[in-house]
Amino acid sequence: MRQGTPLCGERCLGAQLELTAAASRRRPRSERDVTRNDKLNRGRKTKPRAEIDDARKDGRLAALPDDGEGEIELGEGMAEYAAMVQHQLALLGEDPEREGLKKTPMRVAKAMAWLTRGYQQRVEDVVGDALFAEEHRNMIMVRDIELYSMCEHHMLPFFGKAHIAYIPNGRIVGLSKLPRLVEVFARRLQVQERLTEQIASAIERVLRPAGVGVVIEAYHLCMMMRGVEKQNSKTITSALRGGFRDDSKTREEFLYLAHGGSGLLR
Ligand SMILES: [Zn+2]
Repeated sequence: MRQGTPLCGERCLGAQLELTAAASRRRPRSERDVTRNDKLNRGRKTKPRAEIDDARKDGRLAALPDDGEGEIELGEGMAEYAAMVQHQLALLGEDPEREGLKKTPMRVAKAMAWLTRGYQQRVEDVVGDALFAEEHRNMIMVRDIELYSMCEHHMLPFFGKAHIAYIPNGRIVGLSKLPRLVEVFARRLQVQERLTEQIASAIERVLRPAGVGVVIEAYHLCMMMRGVEKQNSKTITSALRGGFRDDSKTREEFLYLAHGGSGLLR
């Protein structure tokens, strides 16, 4: 495993220009992704206080506390989301007015905006210009990438580790970009299977490598905390492309390494 040195010649620049052009051609994965999350995530400094005041006037935010953070950035939908959380608390039989819960609605709104910020991010922006021409032709792997996401069925967290490997085909990406790429897709409502596929597809698209392998192992709180209460069951998913799918030796090597076969640092 090694990080390639950028060979800042024509090829390097060419690759970057190509990437930039591809990025500008490509629209967000779905228009809906952006608009629905805009409401919560796109901060605006000009309106929040007035927005909250309005919401208070018409009764939606009767108990939303003034937390002295009137100048913080709030997305358009933040006050609306907080009001919804407040209603949720009441439906649960709680008293949203009691001390400990007074600031909860806005806290939850902010936390949710943060936990779903991946909707606002694009792989191309995250990778930026960290693509380098490199003739290295062996497997490059980053293991044990911390991962936190939320299942779309219960909106409860699932967390674990991602292991990513690829075989370069003329270019490599800065190693630190792989964890950031995981974040783009993990910070959304997800199912683990799709998350795994999306990470593999993104690497395939950006790097056009000879092969990609992604393994995710995660614990799902919706399984651990409720219903079946299987405290120790870990879900493992994998997505294999190119050489990782077609060549059994490559596949075996990858899966061996992904599952801790190297024996290093374990
Ligand atoms: Zn779930």
